[in-house]
Amino acid sequence: MKNNELFKTNLLISIILIIGFSLTAVFSYNANYQSSLENIEQVSSLSTDGIYYQLNTKFTKPVNISLAMSHDSLLVKHIKDEEKHMNDKAYVDITRNYLENYRKKYGFDAVFLVSAATGRYYNFNGIDRVLEKGDAENVWYYDFLDSDETCRLNVDNDEVDGADNAITVFVNCKVEDMENNVLGVVGVGIRIEYLKEMLKSYEDNFNIAASLIDDNGTIEVSTEHTGYEKTDWFEAYSQQGIREQVLGWKEENSNLEVWSTSDSKEKNYVVTRYIPELSWHLVVGQNTGEIIGKMKQQLYQTCFLIALVILAVLFIITTVIRHFNKQITELMEERQAMFKKATEQLYDNIYELNITKNCTVGKRTKEYFESFGAKGLSYDQGLRVIAEKQIKKEFREGYVSTFTPENVKKEYEKGNNHLKYDFMITQDGTNYYWMRIDAYIFYSSEDNSIHMFVYRKNIDYDKQKEIQALTDEMTGFYTKKATERIIGRMLKNTDKKFAFFIFDIDNFKQANDLYGHIFGDYCIKEFTGTIRKHFRSNDILGRVGGDEFVAFIPVPNTEWVELKAEELSKTLNMECSSKSNSWKMSASIGVAVTPEGGLDFDTLYANADSAMYMTKKRGKNGFTIYRK
Ligand code: GH3
Ligand code: MG
Repeated sequence: MKNNELFKTNLLISIILIIGFSLTAVFSYNANYQSSLENIEQVSSLSTDGIYYQLNTKFTKPVNISLAMSHDSLLVKHIKDEEKHMNDKAYVDITRNYLENYRKKYGFDAVFLVSAATGRYYNFNGIDRVLEKGDAENVWYYDFLDSDETCRLNVDNDEVDGADNAITVFVNCKVEDMENNVLGVVGVGIRIEYLKEMLKSYEDNFNIAASLIDDNGTIEVSTEHTGYEKTDWFEAYSQQGIREQVLGWKEENSNLEVWSTSDSKEKNYVVTRYIPELSWHLVVGQNTGEIIGKMKQQLYQTCFLIALVILAVLFIITTVIRHFNKQITELMEERQAMFKKATEQLYDNIYELNITKNCTVGKRTKEYFESFGAKGLSYDQGLRVIAEKQIKKEFREGYVSTFTPENVKKEYEKGNNHLKYDFMITQDGTNYYWMRIDAYIFYSSEDNSIHMFVYRKNIDYDKQKEIQALTDEMTGFYTKKATERIIGRMLKNTDKKFAFFIFDIDNFKQANDLYGHIFGDYCIKEFTGTIRKHFRSNDILGRVGGDEFVAFIPVPNTEWVELKAEELSKTLNMECSSKSNSWKMSASIGVAVTPEGGLDFDTLYANADSAMYMTKKRGKNGFTIYRK
């Protein structure tokens, strides 16, 4: 796999993994978010109920006890008698004991009595102080006296000596006589610390914010504020939007539960419950900010893990593919090496050429062309240089025309992808041997060009054997069959003019009879040797009978043929001399010239033979040109 394909594969896998993981993360985030909202609703609702019942338990007693004290007829009578005992220590002691008994019995932090007539404030100290109108610390008392309420809760600091100004919830109830004249105020105090701790335990356990607020929205008790500070809950929690709803909720035994949005755009779930005994509202809120923050953190962690997983997967894939590629490449290389070795055993050289671009491909081919001085030349120019320097003259034209880029392209377009050419080549400039080129043409999509592989093979041994099989051992001329086949092939598809000569030794029987067959053989060799000298190497010379031979050659015209025949006739009228014998030889020659002498082997042979016969008839030792 190539690098860019590897990159594409990795990219695809990354995309699939990212999409898959992201969808899973988003779905689980949404599911978690929904269940978190439900969880918030349940927790807020249950916490409100829990706090409500604890408050109820804690405040029902002080309210009831305060009410009971305010209606105690003995206390009413006791207060009425106060003015008679202004300086009576026993009176003060009775009062103190009365209050102290209640305090100890019910475990309140304070139990007190204020006389309306004298302003005396009684508690466990006896007379603690005398309240005076106009003192800011006593506003609670005079306000209450002025109101129509019979009982009221008040969160204040406890000014009593030894109480350290601790914030305390006071339950104040008016003591009235039969005529509803207010004689004083009696009540109990419970330190706010207890309430704070109770609220805090809920806040810590359930991640809520619980407050007790009065009808004006002022926080009376919360873990952070007290009524003493006069903090507005709706302002403190940026919840002005639900002020009316919360303060207007006075239903008994049921909660108001709303989703609201704070000024900072955080979603809050607010549960409120009215506590009629205290005239306070319990407000429990929980915002989604923290949960969303945690979930986002989880999401980031998940993303980080996903990234790690993707990287690990990509690393593994890349390693596996690289390893696999390496193995495949090694196997391919091994195979190629084997294939090359096997091919090289069959061929001397293998070269590659780019036909479209008319140039060599690869180092070896380039070096081969350059070794013939074809450096910097195009392929077709190099081809001509090689032909000139290495190839035997008569094969040059065929070699160049076969492998020229134009011809290769033409053949490939015709659907032929194999070219073959046998020729004679030399390395030293003198000794020629047979060489075969097999060329395979193919289209390479890598560079959109036509390429050609050239396989060169030394076929000299085979060629020599083949030639041997086609030639007569004694004369080196082609056998009759080979002569017939070669001439037949040469006559096909040509408009060249050819002459077909037949030579018959005159009275050859005589030579045999007079001097024996060995001498006869010797004379045949002399005779054919003389013929060979008068023809070129690629003219066709054949032995078609015991003392009958043919020559087939391209000729310019019949006049030339006549001259040639005359020349041959004269030359072949010769003395055949060995060491011991000598015999006067001559030849009867018949010639047929294409086209009038025929256009195929049989006709040419028959006509040349009849011409030769004419010569014999005329007295031998001459020639006859066949004419129609
Ligand atoms: P003509 O002038 O009519 O041709 O007379 P000729 O004696 O040549 O008779 P013909 O052509 O009929 O005979 C050819 C003779 O050549 C016959 C044969 O004995 C002889 N001959 C054929 N082949 C060989 C060969 O290989 N060696 C020898 N020594 N003689 C051969
Ligand atoms: Mg003869």
